[in-house]
Amino acid sequence: MTVQQTLRELVAIDSVSSRSNAEIISYLAARCAARGLSVKRFPYTDENAVEKINLVAQTLVSDSTAAVELALVGHTDTVPFDSAWTDALRLTEKGGKLFGRGACDTKAFISAALTAIENVNLAKLEKPLALTFTADEEIGCLGAKRLAEGRPFTARYAIVGEPTSLHPMRAGKGYCLAKITVRGREAHSAYPQIGVSAIFRAARLIAHIEQIAEHLQSEQRAAFDPPYTTLNVGLIEGGSAKNIIAGECRFTLEWRTIPGQKSDYVLTLVKQAVEEMRTQDADLVVEIEASRADDSFETPSDSELVQFLEETCCRPSGTVAFGTEAPSMIALGADAVVFGPGDIRVAHRTGEFVPVDQLNESVRILQRAIEHFCM
Ligand SMILES: [Zn+2]
Repeated sequence: MTVQQTLRELVAIDSVSSRSNAEIISYLAARCAARGLSVKRFPYTDENAVEKINLVAQTLVSDSTAAVELALVGHTDTVPFDSAWTDALRLTEKGGKLFGRGACDTKAFISAALTAIENVNLAKLEKPLALTFTADEEIGCLGAKRLAEGRPFTARYAIVGEPTSLHPMRAGKGYCLAKITVRGREAHSAYPQIGVSAIFRAARLIAHIEQIAEHLQSEQRAAFDPPYTTLNVGLIEGGSAKNIIAGECRFTLEWRTIPGQKSDYVLTLVKQAVEEMRTQDADLVVEIEASRADDSFETPSDSELVQFLEETCCRPSGTVAFGTEAPSMIALGADAVVFGPGDIRVAHRTGEFVPVDQLNESVRILQRAIEHFCM
């Protein structure tokens, strides 16, 4: 079967994150089993009681305890699609581009990986190769995080499929989020002296947070744009009426960390700012609820995987600005690089597509990677 036929079949299976991915996993398991790979399912139930499955398909080598040498990792879920996009599940070719939901993100990579294992003589592999297919990437890399916790395997190298226009991406910023609630005391606005405005308090705290953002620029990693940890207060709400001193004010704080900086470093600085404010405002109440802390990742530029992909793709390595499953693969011991056909800027859009030439090229590159690392 050609890589395009495989992509057509994968796109035809609706695997939006809210649905169970059991159907696409069955398809992938059958394709891997047909090549003689040992296939293991790691099912779990998501927060809406829907069954989700991670799949690890591994080549068999004489030493069954050997760590995986190379893992090819692709997420099976896609973002939702607009009902007006009637061809979302029907792969459509036009002008050298293949359109369909997931065609770019990330079923193109999965099709290339399946085609690569069908082109390589697996009997010649001396070191284990694993194809890893995950659930729930689009809603927070939840499937990959479960694999990292369960540790069903460790790997030396991992290629994490994402649309990077065939550029090897060896590092990425972390993504963290917290909800901050500042409390005050309600009162009639004609008598502010008997209340305490939560909004004024929040405003003072946010002024401190703006200073923290400036301070963060002092630590830089040149590989990133911008080269420092950024933060954002994206949402704010508070108060109950124009003539009531606000009793509560809530806002979100989001930050994207450069590698080498702990994901909770920003929170530590915010807590220090709160303590400093408390010296002037003794009964200040600030509640901080950290709701997400996805690590940054970085694989050294002299890693064999980075160097191999740079040479084989004829492109220098770079960094990604979006969240990926690479930190989970690093947790499993791997040097991880994010790589795949298609452009992330067209992913998640109606009419997402992968260029045919990049799809074909990625088959060739993955095939060479398998031969290079596992033979
Ligand atoms: Zn993706």
